[in-house]
Amino acid sequence: MHNTLLNISKTPYWLADPRLKLSSFTTDVDKVPATSDVAIVGGGFTGLSAAITLARAGRKVTVFDAAPLGTGASCRNGGLLGPSFNKLGLDGITSQYGKEKTHAVIKESMEAFRWLLNFIRTEKIACELNVCGRFRGASHPKHFNDLLEQVKELSEVIDFPAIILNKEQQLEEVGSDSYYGGVIYPQDATLQPALLFQGLLEIATKAGVKIFDNTSVHNVVNQGGRFELMLEHQSVQADKVIIATNGYTGSQFGKFKRRVLPIRSAMIATEELPEELIQSVLPKLRCYMGTERVVSYYRTSPDGKRILFGGRASGRGDQPEKYAKFLRELMIRYFPQLSAVKIDYAWSGMVAYTFDHIPHIGKIDGLYYAMGYCGSGVGRSNYFGRKIAQKLLGNANGKTIFDEFLFKTRPLYTGTPWFMPTILRWHSFADRMGW
Ligand SMILES: Cc1cc2nc3c(=O)[nH]c(=O)nc-3n(C[C@H](O)[C@H](O)[C@H](O)COP(=O)(O)OP(=O)(O)OC[C@H]3O[C@@H](n4cnc5c(N)ncnc54)[C@H](O)[C@@H]3O)c2cc1C
Repeated sequence: MHNTLLNISKTPYWLADPRLKLSSFTTDVDKVPATSDVAIVGGGFTGLSAAITLARAGRKVTVFDAAPLGTGASCRNGGLLGPSFNKLGLDGITSQYGKEKTHAVIKESMEAFRWLLNFIRTEKIACELNVCGRFRGASHPKHFNDLLEQVKELSEVIDFPAIILNKEQQLEEVGSDSYYGGVIYPQDATLQPALLFQGLLEIATKAGVKIFDNTSVHNVVNQGGRFELMLEHQSVQADKVIIATNGYTGSQFGKFKRRVLPIRSAMIATEELPEELIQSVLPKLRCYMGTERVVSYYRTSPDGKRILFGGRASGRGDQPEKYAKFLRELMIRYFPQLSAVKIDYAWSGMVAYTFDHIPHIGKIDGLYYAMGYCGSGVGRSNYFGRKIAQKLLGNANGKTIFDEFLFKTRPLYTGTPWFMPTILRWHSFADRMGW
C-alpha cells in the first residue's frame, strides 16, 4: 500500500487558496503612526472585528500582529460555525450561577451566532458560508439521552430546531458505525475562515485601520491613563489598548496569560476524493462532531472534494508528522473506508481555554480584552471583538451577559499548562468509559 502520509503540506489548507492576498493589507512598519486613539494587539478575528467597529465610529485605529497576517488561529480553524453550546459546560454554569443566568448565556450565544451570519451577508463577504447543519453523534450509548435532554432544555429557552436520529437513522447522515444516534442542528454552518479573515481585512482597511504584521508588541506601559506600546525598534502611544491575543498571549501580558490555558489543536485535509467515497462518509455534506470530551470534528472542503478532520494535536509543540498520523488513525477508526486515502495537508494552531469554560471580556489594569473561546471561536471572537469595541466607545450595546463572569486564574498558575497532558489522558480515558 502507498504511504498516505508522504509529502504533506504544513500550510493550512485554507491558506493555499489562490484567492487570498493577505499581505496586501499590511502597512510598512516604518509608517507606524506615533499616536492612535486605539491600538489593538493581535490581528485575528477578535482584533479585526474590534478594529472595524472602532474605525467606523471615527476612531484612529492601529492593529499590530507579531506574525504574518493569517498566522493565528483565525486562519487555521475548521470553519465550523454555531452557537457553541457544547463548549460552554451549561450544567456547570447552572450549578454555579443558576438557571436565569444560564438562560441569558444561551440566548446571547444564539444571538452572537446569528449576528455573524447576518454581518457576513450584509457586508457581502464571500467566504463560502454554507448553512449546511451540524450532526452531533452520541459517542457512547448514554450520551444519546444527554443530547436529547440538552435539546429539550435549549428549546425551552430559544428557537432551537433539532432533528433527532436513532442509530439506524444516523446512517443516512454519516457513514460511520461509531455513534449511538445523534442530533442534527440545521442552523449551524461552515465557512472558509481565511476568506472571512480577508473580508475583515478589506473592511477594516477601507474604514481606515492601519495594520502592521510581523510587529510584536513587547510591552504596554500604562502612563496614567494613556499607553505606550513598545515595539522592536520604537515605541508608540495610544489612548486605549485592546489585547486580542487569545491562545498566543505572551508573558508580557502576564495577567491575561495566567487566565487562559493555551492548547494546540490540529487538522488534516485529505487529497481530493471521488464523489462516491465522499458520499459514503458524509452523504449530506454537513459538519460533524461527537460528544467526546476530547472532541473530533470534520467536514468537507467547500468544494466538497476533500475531508477536513480536526482534533487534539498529539506531541509537544508543532509536530505535523505526529498529529497527522494520530488524526489519520482517528479518522480511519470512524471511517475505515478512508484507509487508503492520502493526507495532503496537516497544520495546527493555538486555542485558549479558560478555567470555567466561559469566554471572557472586559478590562484589567486599564487594558481592554476579549479571549478564551475554548476552541469554539469563529463566531465568538468576531462577536466579542465587536462587543469590546462597543465597551471602549462607551456604547450601551457593549453590555453582555459575559460581563458577569469573573475571569479567574488558579493559585500558582502562570500560563504554562504543564498539567494538560495528564488532564487530556484523563479525558480520553473518560471518553472510552462513556463518562
Ligand atoms: C486547529 C483549530 C481548529 C479550530 N476549529 C474551530 C472551528 O471549527 N470552529 C470554531 O468556532 N473555532 C475553531 N477554532 C478556534 C478559533 O479559530 C479561535 O477561537 C479564533 O480564531 C480566535 O481568534 P482570535 O482573533 O481571538 O485569536 P487568533 O486568531 O489566534 O489571533 C491572535 C493573534 O495575536 C497575535 N499576537 C500574540 N501576541 C502578540 C504580540 N505580543 N504582539 C502582536 N501580536 C500578537 C498572534 O500572532 C495572533 O495572530 C479552531 C482553532 C484551531 C487552532
